[in-house]
Amino acid sequence: MDIVLFGKPGAGKGTQAPRIAAALDVPTVATGDVLRGAVRAGTPMGLAAKAYMDRGDLVPDDVILGIMKETLGKGEFAKGSLLDGVVRTTPQAEGMSRVLAELGRKVDAVLVFDVDDDELVQRLGSRTVCEMCQTPYTGREAGERCENCGGSLIRRKDDEPEAVRNRLAVYQRQTAPVLAWYEHNGTTIATVNAVGSVDDVTRRALDALRAAGVGGSEKRR
Ligand code: AMP
Repeated sequence: MDIVLFGKPGAGKGTQAPRIAAALDVPTVATGDVLRGAVRAGTPMGLAAKAYMDRGDLVPDDVILGIMKETLGKGEFAKGSLLDGVVRTTPQAEGMSRVLAELGRKVDAVLVFDVDDDELVQRLGSRTVCEMCQTPYTGREAGERCENCGGSLIRRKDDEPEAVRNRLAVYQRQTAPVLAWYEHNGTTIATVNAVGSVDDVTRRALDALRAAGVGGSEKRR
């Protein structure tokens, strides 16, 4: 089963992905985490991606599709994936359907996280993330410790106001049209109201997927 998590920056995809993945028993791929790892490691891909990321622009599609091809070809992804942060452009949607088709699969559903812009700007303005495991937090200060791995919490450079404004504009221009592409192609689309407690949103997300006919046999939490 392959599911695309879809929504504006700050909508909660990264917070919900591990929870939904655990319930559905599939691993997650977060392209943002892969890219930040490459930046930290100073690989050629990381060096090329850094300037795009700092500005809040999208990294070129061929880089993203290269990551996805390599990742989804690994044995641990044989039974499916929860895609967090990809697909973000129509060429990526087309490319991903080719990558999955080569594996005899397709996107089974797109789960849309619905949050209004004011809430997002507020969330990103107070977001910190663990520099080690990338777990996101709201209302926790930079320098505090991650509950998950003990790493140090930092502010993401692209969560600064100018980059956030750009990321929302990029979403409208390049990412929002992807939904119409999936609709046109007959892909199942489920929407979740992503404002509320983390537990509530997880429950609603799993309900929305179940109602859409996906993930009905998930592990009990
Ligand atoms: P995220 O952690 O998903 O918010 O991603 C952080 C940044 O990584 C984005 O603002 C982009 O610069 C880059 N990025 C992550 N995923 C993609 C993608 N699918 N396509 C293009 N750029 C991406």
